[in-house]
Amino acid sequence: MRRLFVYFWIIILAGCCGKPGQIDRGAYLADSTVSSNSQDERIRFLVMHYTAADDQESLRLLTEGQVSAHYLVHSSPEINRGKPVARQLVAEEKRAWHAGESHWQGRNNINDTSVGIEIVNLGFREEAGGKTWYPFNEDQIELVALLARDIIHRYGISPANVVAHSDIAPLRKNDPGPRFPWRQLALRGIGAWPDRESVERHLAGRAHGEPAPVAKIQQALARYGYSIPENGLADDKTRRAISAFQMHFRPEDISGTPDAQTEAIAMALVEKYRS
Ligand SMILES: [Zn+2]
Repeated sequence: MRRLFVYFWIIILAGCCGKPGQIDRGAYLADSTVSSNSQDERIRFLVMHYTAADDQESLRLLTEGQVSAHYLVHSSPEINRGKPVARQLVAEEKRAWHAGESHWQGRNNINDTSVGIEIVNLGFREEAGGKTWYPFNEDQIELVALLARDIIHRYGISPANVVAHSDIAPLRKNDPGPRFPWRQLALRGIGAWPDRESVERHLAGRAHGEPAPVAKIQQALARYGYSIPENGLADDKTRRAISAFQMHFRPEDISGTPDAQTEAIAMALVEKYRS
């Protein structure tokens, strides 16, 4: 009787769990005891956004609307057990709908290959002198830095693949705007930033605002990752891509004008990250 009881348990356990490395999926087993060398992470990019809405509305839009992001950073993140709280709305292994039609480094539909962080910020207001952009809060940026560093580390995301929504969709998007502190984050090891000496070398004594050859800027931005025409013309698409680039790397002047400083920064970035 006792032996029967033992057999009973052996049969039950074998039926329920199979061999080690075999997962019971109901009607079949999946055996993962041998895995392939040829694999890498699906996640290659980290995309920063602002929500252009307040906390409550941002949460509503990102949970009830046709848009989403993996993370939402509130205007004043809650502190729990001494740690700031990031709201996770979508699991990282799922696609969030944050990038829309987008391009970077020859890839399209960046939703497929990215993690998206939405940051609560109202964006800008239109005034007589042009757009006035709202600043980010220090504690927001602190949490963005912690979150970004962790994601970058876990997926091995390269610095030039930490991007703004405006970088990957320059014809449609402005966010996270020129007040997003890319330089401050780069100093903490998050994202790309050009070396000052390299920029000076490429500037070669020219004044910052001096006109620069459009073709050279187009070529450098395309090589860096932007979707930009390569026709040598300062047309609307080109100027918008240049403006997106300036919002990221030269926020003092985001007019989209192809000038010498823009060219020098672009060349320095290509040299550092894409050669
Ligand atoms: Zn966005």
